[in-house]
Amino acid sequence: MNIWTKRLDYESLATTDTPDRPENLPDLEIRAIAKSFNGVTALDEVSFTVERGEFLAIMGPSGCGKTTLLRILAGLETADSGTLLSRGKRIDQIPVHRRNMRLVWQNYALFPHLNVRNNIEFGLKLQKLERKVIDAKVAAIAEMVRLTEFLDHRVTVLSGGQRQRVAIARALVTEPDILLLDEPLSALDANLRVHMQSELKRLQQTLGIAFVYITHNQSEAFSTADRVVVMNRGRIEQIGAPREIYLWPRTRFAAEFVGSNNLLEGRIASVVGNVVSVDCGAGQFFVALPDERLAHGYRPAPKATVTLVIQASKVRGHATSVANENHVTAVVTDTEFTGSQIVQHLRLQDGAALRMIAPDPFSGSTPGPGSTIDIYWSPEDCVLVGPRILPSSENIPGAKSYVRM
Ligand code: ATP
Repeated sequence: MNIWTKRLDYESLATTDTPDRPENLPDLEIRAIAKSFNGVTALDEVSFTVERGEFLAIMGPSGCGKTTLLRILAGLETADSGTLLSRGKRIDQIPVHRRNMRLVWQNYALFPHLNVRNNIEFGLKLQKLERKVIDAKVAAIAEMVRLTEFLDHRVTVLSGGQRQRVAIARALVTEPDILLLDEPLSALDANLRVHMQSELKRLQQTLGIAFVYITHNQSEAFSTADRVVVMNRGRIEQIGAPREIYLWPRTRFAAEFVGSNNLLEGRIASVVGNVVSVDCGAGQFFVALPDERLAHGYRPAPKATVTLVIQASKVRGHATSVANENHVTAVVTDTEFTGSQIVQHLRLQDGAALRMIAPDPFSGSTPGPGSTIDIYWSPEDCVLVGPRILPSSENIPGAKSYVRM
């Protein structure tokens, strides 16, 4: 008996790569979606796409509009303006129950009086499927989320991780095209959270359906997602693969929000080849622009005000033979033991704060507060963000919130 009808459809359709065939259209296209509540902007013309079967994480501080966006995608909230398309079809006028998406919440929202099986099969019964089809689907999804032995347990006796798996199984069993997840793991303890992250990723890859996943947690977003959307104040600061976001933040906000970055304010002094010199309060520093950036016409404007971004892990306490290596003297203001490493908090001569990771946390030789040390970093390990750095060609036409500089 074939119980997963839609998955089979996808397979039979996936024989062509013609770009505009329906099977090649993105699972979701969000075009200039705007929403205000009593004059307060929650979403400011947000635009992006969710590609077929993509795991897309949306990350941003509290109040930046993540949940509002998810509720609009699900049909629980109406946008003030903008368009939503799923696989090329307008869906913004389609009611919740006719959008083929399911939403999984942080608080599970299970039926407490029902057992695991009855919770999972709820949507299938509404579809009035035959009993044997329902049983087969429930058994298959329970196997996938590793709940088979708990099918006859009441949900009230389950652990947090098990409850969340019931919620995910209940959402997936009806074969949605897209699963929307709003902080699904935030109620779980740290170990279970890491375990569930890999479970979710495995499930998503097995089923091949798109996940749109909201989280505050950077490591969760980076370890699970194909691409990450960084949001701030109702706008998108950056969209990209986790590595790209981590290594090349495009905006000051993304640089501050992601990773453990040091930010130094400065002004472009000169550009020679791919090497940019930046005048900062504590000295002149060099930044090497990566070839791919140069190929995209990425050129800093002379005298432009910029922010120089250096990851804390790239600051070293010793010189190397790298060309144009940056060097400055700093005073240690504090040391912070985090369990696996020591973070040294430093102050430069102009008062700017910097962090570096001590090279050998357990040696007992890490200079303490009050020590003066020499620090170094490579020009290849810095990124410039700021006004007039990105050419407009890197923005998506009509989507002002795609990349903001
Ligand atoms: P969090 O991470 O804290 O859940 P969020 O990024 O999901 O935050 P939203 O819940 O989408 O943010 O809220 C975005 C903005 O819209 C906030 O300023 C919030 O106060 C406001 N907002 C959201 N829903 C409503 C509502 N129903 N009525 C009034 N204001 C709202």
